[in-house]
Amino acid sequence: MQAESSPARPWLVTRWAVWSLPARVLTSLLLVEATALGLYCIDFARTPFTGSALLPAVTLVVLGVLHTEIAVGLERFRRRVADTPHVDLSSVWTFAAAILLSPALATGVVLLIFTHQWFRVWRSVHVPGYRHVFSTATVVLSCHAAAAMLSYAGGITLATASDPRQLLTLSVAILAYGTVNTGLVAAAIALSAPSVRPSPAQLLGHLDDNMLELGTLCLGALVALAMSANPWLVPLVLAPLLVLHRAVLVRQLEQVASTDSKTGLLNASAWRIEAARELRRAQRARSTVALLILDLDHFKSVNDDHGHLAGDEVLSAVASALSAEVREHDLVGRFGGEEFVVLLPQLGAETDATEELHVIAERIRHRVATMKVVLPTSGGPLSIGGLSVSVGCAAFPDHGSGLDQVLAAADTALYAVKRDGRNAVRIAELPALPRQRSPGWR
Ligand code: GH3
Ligand code: MG
Ligand code: MG
Repeated sequence: MQAESSPARPWLVTRWAVWSLPARVLTSLLLVEATALGLYCIDFARTPFTGSALLPAVTLVVLGVLHTEIAVGLERFRRRVADTPHVDLSSVWTFAAAILLSPALATGVVLLIFTHQWFRVWRSVHVPGYRHVFSTATVVLSCHAAAAMLSYAGGITLATASDPRQLLTLSVAILAYGTVNTGLVAAAIALSAPSVRPSPAQLLGHLDDNMLELGTLCLGALVALAMSANPWLVPLVLAPLLVLHRAVLVRQLEQVASTDSKTGLLNASAWRIEAARELRRAQRARSTVALLILDLDHFKSVNDDHGHLAGDEVLSAVASALSAEVREHDLVGRFGGEEFVVLLPQLGAETDATEELHVIAERIRHRVATMKVVLPTSGGPLSIGGLSVSVGCAAFPDHGSGLDQVLAAADTALYAVKRDGRNAVRIAELPALPRQRSPGWR
């Protein structure tokens, strides 16, 4: 549990980073860890030790360790490129342990695999120790949930391997494992930043993450069944597991390539690709798509007064405010510097699109004008306010038949706002209709 930022004398308990967490986060972490430890002690006291159960337990630990060793470079790279909720592929081994072993032995498998992972992967990429201890505890509790479901359903026996009910039993165990794991991680994320409301995807992971977790748990179930039939077959799972691992890395790299690292918004090129796709969709559906270009006013003076790092924090706070003011499926991007773009698909389905666009743009402008960004400094908290933003708006198809035309119209409106004194919203002029040719021109 040593602090990532204070490597000096990490053995000193009082220096652990965990103590600097807010009280509510610390309490819930300790509660989860104490529950996992308490359950382990009860299981250990209750379960009679049988030597025959030791062989599958040792096999799972050896395979888990081997898997970590083969994928060490991949895992370190995954953590470096994206600090998103991490789907841990080691649940192949821990879920198999939950199916095959007593809860006490399954916990032992989890502890050994996770301790090895800590020394080989997480410590070197500076993941705080308390996070890893919490992950370990959530996996222990997930194994208990899966085991409880299995024992409630009468367990899995190879003697009745052709029984279709086993599919249902294993599915329920997978559901229990996944729900406990995801639920505890989501609760920790929600508690650690109560002032910002995280999106469902931030709390529960994206659909892809959940599909990956599901795939890993299914492999775990197959490992358990193969192990009961013939343990020598189990290493066959390593190859598909590593392929899965690489596929995850590619997805993470795609995400990094499309994200602006300073604000977490879409970067300009990813925004353009997504925006063009929305316009094509709108063309087919004959709907309206609105577009805003926003430029912070006199932003250079924020840098000049408080420094570039403070300027970066302001950009990040404005990005969060923008995302909070629009719908989840609207596209918010950083266009460059202190300029942002927002695409609002399907606007005006029930009301007048221009009116709705004006209301949204004004709401954003007002939010930026009233926001205060509080930053910790050595001389106490620094509050940066008095910001303002100029907004140019345009819509498809009213202002153009393609993305570039609509962008150009919104940009012209933005420049008009800047010319007129800033801190305002303007909707682009409608393009002049093509002049009707008089019959006399022929
Ligand atoms: P205007 O109202 O005319 O838009 O004035 P402005 O100062 O906002 O515009 P100007 O184009 O003169 O300057 C933009 C400033 O934005 C200058 C640059 O230092 C700052 N900036 C651009 N990108 C970043 C960034 O990533 N971080 C920080 N801190 N500042 C940035
Ligand atoms: Mg600018
Ligand atoms: Mg500006």
